[in-house]
Amino acid sequence: MTKRLYYEDSHIKEFKALVISCKCVNDDKYEVILDKTAFFPGGGGQAPDTGTIDSARVLKVFERENFIIHLLDSPVEEGKLVKCYLDWDQRFRRMQAHSGEHVISGIVHSLFGAENVGFHMGEDGVIVDFDKYVSPEDLRRVEINANCIVMEDRCVCSLFPSIEELSSISYRSKREISGQVRLIEIEGCDVCACCAPHVKRTGEIGIIRILESIRRKGGVRLRMIAGIDALEDTLARGDVTRELSAFFSSKIDGIIGAVKKLSEERERLSYEIGGLRRELVSMKLAGINKTDGNLVLFEPDFQMDDLRYAANEAEGLYKGMCVVLSGDDISGYRYVIVSNVIDLRTAAGDINSALNGRGGGKSEMITGSFKAPREKIERFFLNYKGVAI
Ligand SMILES: [Zn+2]
Repeated sequence: MTKRLYYEDSHIKEFKALVISCKCVNDDKYEVILDKTAFFPGGGGQAPDTGTIDSARVLKVFERENFIIHLLDSPVEEGKLVKCYLDWDQRFRRMQAHSGEHVISGIVHSLFGAENVGFHMGEDGVIVDFDKYVSPEDLRRVEINANCIVMEDRCVCSLFPSIEELSSISYRSKREISGQVRLIEIEGCDVCACCAPHVKRTGEIGIIRILESIRRKGGVRLRMIAGIDALEDTLARGDVTRELSAFFSSKIDGIIGAVKKLSEERERLSYEIGGLRRELVSMKLAGINKTDGNLVLFEPDFQMDDLRYAANEAEGLYKGMCVVLSGDDISGYRYVIVSNVIDLRTAAGDINSALNGRGGGKSEMITGSFKAPREKIERFFLNYKGVAI
């Protein structure tokens, strides 16, 4: 049985231990058992630690029959006293996030009676699922309360109560636990069954932020961060806000108004440009002579609506079909084709396969895109006759 130093002191970053065994396993990896370890093997939603043992890298840590196995990339000598170092920055961030999650879950439970029914610590923060819906306004209250608990620097203790003691303690637990139960108590805030290492006082958590919440399965799913991760996130958000504030020459509380104004202005201009484009197309069409075959028009930067408008405006200028396109040889062309005399639904297959295209529609109008050069498109429609309706 390996002695678990992380339960005696969650802040051990380095330690010396005796190598009990070192076995070579697949892919030149080595499974090492020490007499004691501060490497947490993972559990309670928290990932296993990594680090080094002498000059070997600890790739993975896991439990097997009361022993903690360290998977190394090179061997260590059996019977030797080795120096072990945890990747402390990673472990400390995880403890901050995990203890932060207990604070949030404890508050949500006591204020709203919601149970934590899912928990995942990932790259983008901690995802927590509660079985009851809590509104964003109430979650803001939770976030403020949580940070007050951090500022009050309350004690975080781990308890190993006897079965008799346990029966008189009220605690949160995600599942039925058999055997020795370990409880994490955050003074005056939460008691929860958990096997992971935690910070010693809430002050170490630093900051707790709830970044987003969505309704999920009748409850709510939160994404939260804490500690150094939350500090880095807050600083990055500050940088963005500062840049926006300089860009808009606005105070921070005026940025949203400035963005809305810009968006409205953009909408107005795009409407105006649309009108001008259509005017231009009408003028251009007025100068085109009627053709016996197909009419092919290339227009710069036309969206589908503009293409449809131009195609419909061209009615009467062709006897075959009217093809209006916008794009370029590299990214391809969007197209709208209209005709009163050719069945375009039937022709769509021929046209798309000849011009590496996709799309379709009704017999009088088809829309889509071609991945073919302009010259090839022009040549194709010069000769294409299609099938009359
Ligand atoms: Zn936990």
